[in-house]
Amino acid sequence: MGRQFFVGGNFKMNGTIDSIKEIVNNLNSATCDSNTEVVIAPPALYLLLTREHLRAGIEVAAQNVFDRPNGAFTGEISVAQLKDSNITWTVLGHSERRVILQETNKFVADKTKAALDGGIGVILCCGETLEQREAEKTMDVVLAQLKAVSDVQKDWSKIVVAYEPVWAIGTGKVASNEQAQEVHKGIREWLGEELGKEVAEKTRVIYGGSVSEKNCRELAKEGDIDGFLVGGASLKPAFVDIINARKE
Ligand code: PEP
Repeated sequence: MGRQFFVGGNFKMNGTIDSIKEIVNNLNSATCDSNTEVVIAPPALYLLLTREHLRAGIEVAAQNVFDRPNGAFTGEISVAQLKDSNITWTVLGHSERRVILQETNKFVADKTKAALDGGIGVILCCGETLEQREAEKTMDVVLAQLKAVSDVQKDWSKIVVAYEPVWAIGTGKVASNEQAQEVHKGIREWLGEELGKEVAEKTRVIYGGSVSEKNCRELAKEGDIDGFLVGGASLKPAFVDIINARKE
């Protein structure tokens, strides 16, 4: 059986009660490809509002989660609290957190393990900066980010890997089909070597970085691109076109 197409929407620190309700209403009434798994990640403050208004069949993700069960961790949210609120996924390792908030590969890996142990799926982001790409370090960087996770977590059945070149995020500069496919293929080969053929065949590897309704259809034709993580365009009605990127 093929891998189910997966489209995530990362709202980042955008939205208001009104604008998020509008996005949710739009998704509720849209005709979405039933073969696509859809997950949206609003800011933490709006997780419950989103879950309350969003139709069944579309899941909600946090943009981050902490790796401790409870206690004196001001500002953090636990896996159990997400579960309690029917939030079934979390994004982890987004480059904005790795770069701006200095999250290390190990910290991202520990949070990934905590989320999975607690029964939450993980959209695990990885990707290189422009400087790293130009120094031909792309695969070294990406695989080091993923290896930190495989060191602590062998079951990847609830991980979706999001390859997001940092230079393509929010810049309007999308990776070419060839650039994206090359890295996705490399990730899949590494998964095979590190965790076995079955994991490599089953794990969704999605692309993120300036995906739009204009470029999604071509990218979606690549054999190792199993969907998208969408930032800016997930706030717009065109997000539905991205969900339907594989629909005839
Ligand atoms: C993201 O934030 O994960 C992302 C891919 O952003 P954008 O689509 O805006 O480039």
